[in-house]
Amino acid sequence: MAKETGKIIKESLRPCPFCNGEVALADMGHYWLITRASGMKTATMCKCRVFMESDSFHAHDKEEKQKAKEKVIKAWNTRPNPWHTGNPTEEGDYLVKLDVERHVYPYYVLKWSKGGWYSHYDMDYPACPQHSVLKWQKIVEG
Ligand SMILES: [Zn+2]
Repeated sequence: MAKETGKIIKESLRPCPFCNGEVALADMGHYWLITRASGMKTATMCKCRVFMESDSFHAHDKEEKQKAKEKVIKAWNTRPNPWHTGNPTEEGDYLVKLDVERHVYPYYVLKWSKGGWYSHYDMDYPACPQHSVLKWQKIVEG
């Protein structure tokens, strides 16, 4: 199966997180490799040579190979959800890190609305002063 090594396979991979360039999945025989596809000399190709290797698999074990493939694609397509400070610009639900009178709540869900932070069950008064929210991130579904 040596001639199969390095074969590029089209998959739904998100672009490179650094340059937004295209990447591809290559079958390396005993592991999968996600990186720029050197055969793909397009302007949109990833330029930073970043790569991600899958778990290794036995070449004859189709099930193990498939599992390694799904796992590395999922890992590649996962992006960290960044934290922000200050006030959000859009209304909605946010995961927040709260500091209320020196008691830190690392994960708390609040609603940003009408220029303040509200809990879901009380939209009459803000749940806490704005400076209590140390940082926030958008809640990403799925
Ligand atoms: Zn790149």
